[in-house]
Amino acid sequence: MLQNRCDIHTHTLYSRHAYSTLRENVLAARDAGLELLGVTDHFSDMLFPGTDLTHADLRDYQHFVNMGIWPRTWEGVRLLHGMEADIRTLEGGLFGQAVTVTHDITGRPARRERSLYDRMLHNCDYVIASVHYKNFADGASLAQTTEMYLGALAQPKVLVLGHTGRAGVPFDVRAVVGEAARTGRLIEINEHSLESRGPEGRTWGSCRAIAEACAELGCGVVVNTDAHVCTAVGRTPTALAMLEEIHFPQELIATRSAAALLAAMAKAGLDVPGE
Ligand SMILES: [Zn+2]
Ligand SMILES: [Zn+2]
Repeated sequence: MLQNRCDIHTHTLYSRHAYSTLRENVLAARDAGLELLGVTDHFSDMLFPGTDLTHADLRDYQHFVNMGIWPRTWEGVRLLHGMEADIRTLEGGLFGQAVTVTHDITGRPARRERSLYDRMLHNCDYVIASVHYKNFADGASLAQTTEMYLGALAQPKVLVLGHTGRAGVPFDVRAVVGEAARTGRLIEINEHSLESRGPEGRTWGSCRAIAEACAELGCGVVVNTDAHVCTAVGRTPTALAMLEEIHFPQELIATRSAAALLAAMAKAGLDVPGE
């Protein structure tokens, strides 16, 4: 039986189409027996209609600015500060990288020029890079979409490629998984991508093929819920069943324990937060 004791892809009320508070997610993580919870709200123009893709006011992003005040351990659960950033270009550029911060959280003009993405990283331990709105990739070649994921893997603080099996953007799985293995980045096996219809579902085959490539090429994975309500936190039975079906090695599951996840962060060159 495969073990999974961390969930590092979860959402709170900040994401607008998610429904639980930070504390509700922490309590659910504790009750599910997790050692570590990562909270990764959307960092995306899906949150605010009319988002300007060149300029931003930090008053719209205060959630990420102040994550540093969260306890590092809460109800016995280690807590990581993350975000799920949208991949926005075929070069793997992320939301916020082409956006200049114009105003700080009090509404004063910003004192120095920097990108919204860089500003958000200050209190952020790691980033999950995911494709949600894939219009920019319409008609792209496999070579281009592969470059997109390789580019995203190389962005500052990106630890995980999120739900690649359901994003609807085909890519060269072996090339991307191989690069992730080489650089210590992690591929997500996402419960939400698999649970709705199980093996009959649209994304089961693509998720399984990605997991098989990870096993073959020695690439670490994270098994996450992508919970948008606290009752889902820490529950990954479908993803684990799929991994068991292909005899996936336990030691490649970075979410098997808090210690393994923190070691994977260090291997990827990220700062490991204290307790
Ligand atoms: Zn969402
Ligand atoms: Zn998500």
